[in-house]
Amino acid sequence: MADCIFCQIAGGKIPTEFLYQDDTVVAFKDINPQAPVHFLVVPKKHIGSILDVGGDDADLLPTVQKVIAQLASKLGITDGGFRVVVNTGKDGGQTVPHLHFHVLGGRFLDWPPG
Ligand code: AMP
Ligand code: ZN
Repeated sequence: MADCIFCQIAGGKIPTEFLYQDDTVVAFKDINPQAPVHFLVVPKKHIGSILDVGGDDADLLPTVQKVIAQLASKLGITDGGFRVVVNTGKDGGQTVPHLHFHVLGGRFLDWPPG
């Protein structure tokens, strides 16, 4: 989608330093980090939210899981632990309507969230 910021990032239209990229996903640091480590894993394909993952996307979630585990290890947050967040819709606090997985670590994260 032309006016979607994560489509523009994934498509290389906004210069972004990727932590990881392949045919399916990109990963990059959140511009407004909420923890010492805060990156996003984003499908290249425009998918509005977790509710819109379809039958054509069978490879997506296993790929996302693999990338999260690899980057968490690379960035040194596996021992301390970390959180994966998928904000969805208005009550979920989703502000960018293109599916993305937040990965936060490097500090203790309170529960429940605000
Ligand atoms: P959400 O509120 O769950 O939809 O998360 C959107 C996230 O995208 C927020 O944490 C933003 O800080 C982040 N974000 C927005 N624009 C950019 C950008 N250009 N580069 C990196 N992160 C971004
Ligand atoms: Zn998009």
